[in-house]
Amino acid sequence: MAQDYYSTLGIPKTASAEEIKRAYRKLAHQYHPDKGEKGDAEKFKEVSEAYQVLSDPSKRSQYDQFGSAYNGARGQGGGPQGFSGFDFSQSMGGFEDAFDIFSDIFGGGAQSRSSRRERGVDLEMELYLSFEEAVFGVEREIQIEKKDTCLKCQGSGAEPGTKISTCPKCHGAGQIRTSRRTIFGQMSQVSTCDVCEGSGKTAETPCSECAGSGTKRRLKKLQIKIPAGVEDGQRIRVSGEGEVGYRGSAAGDLYIRLHVKSHKFFKREGEHIYSEIPISFYQAALGTKVMTETVDGEVELKIPGGTQSGKVFRLKDRGAAILNGSGRGDHFVTVRVVTPTKLNKKEKDYFKKMAEDKGEAVDIDDSLWAKFTG
Ligand SMILES: [Zn+2]
Ligand SMILES: [Zn+2]
Repeated sequence: MAQDYYSTLGIPKTASAEEIKRAYRKLAHQYHPDKGEKGDAEKFKEVSEAYQVLSDPSKRSQYDQFGSAYNGARGQGGGPQGFSGFDFSQSMGGFEDAFDIFSDIFGGGAQSRSSRRERGVDLEMELYLSFEEAVFGVEREIQIEKKDTCLKCQGSGAEPGTKISTCPKCHGAGQIRTSRRTIFGQMSQVSTCDVCEGSGKTAETPCSECAGSGTKRRLKKLQIKIPAGVEDGQRIRVSGEGEVGYRGSAAGDLYIRLHVKSHKFFKREGEHIYSEIPISFYQAALGTKVMTETVDGEVELKIPGGTQSGKVFRLKDRGAAILNGSGRGDHFVTVRVVTPTKLNKKEKDYFKKMAEDKGEAVDIDDSLWAKFTG
């Protein structure tokens, strides 16, 4: 589960910047992994993540708005512009409710992520949606083959019934600090423990199913909810549905790149949908009611007399759902007036008569016309 950053730091939501800093310093000092067995690498990580978000006013306000779903601290380098505020994510490696694993949308462009060695690998897949599915949202069952938690040892890496002990090399911290003397003085470096791969624990008898890794490759079905209003090329992050990490450490994320198929009649820009409708010369002149296709089905469109070709009519709220917002965009219909191409004798006489009444010259010799166009 995602942590509550305020309770992680033990401060109220109204805490000032100074209070946040003070709480962080105290806890960071308390849990620092350098303290060996007295430290707590996991707690230290949580505290640091909480501080990273709450100490940044823009990240903090996004977090306040979107609650524990906020994942900004993990998508490092993206900053607020990479984060569009769409994040339902709550499970980080939990598999309890696939409907709730939802996540955020990136307009595209890879996020540079901090690649900690113990964290599971991120996965990426492509998903094709129809025009309507993108407009209204859809639930899809997908299948991914990935490293998942080993069912025999539940990810611990130890044969069931055997002991798991604290890693002898890092004493449970998961990290090793190495120091060496240089001409500039003492230099130290922190790296992931190579014995326990950062888990802080070692199995005395490795699990026979997964050889101690705690992971097992298998096919997993996921129910994915694509929110209404997504667009072609966008990426969705399903938090915690990448590959699981070594011995039950945090899973990576699953990224789903969306491809929206184009529509026969409709075009889309953001939340608005555009189409054209042909009407006859007579309908344009006299006015009419036509049925025009929208994503909601046919809708009546009133066209007043004297409508010119190219005139745009707006059908309010017939567009796509607004992603991250409420309501829908509009559907814009452009009228194309179709000039009659084949007139019979009677129609020609009518038109000539009308033109003569207006004093307009129209009497074109058909054979002459054929020369021009032919
Ligand atoms: Zn196992
Ligand atoms: Zn270790």
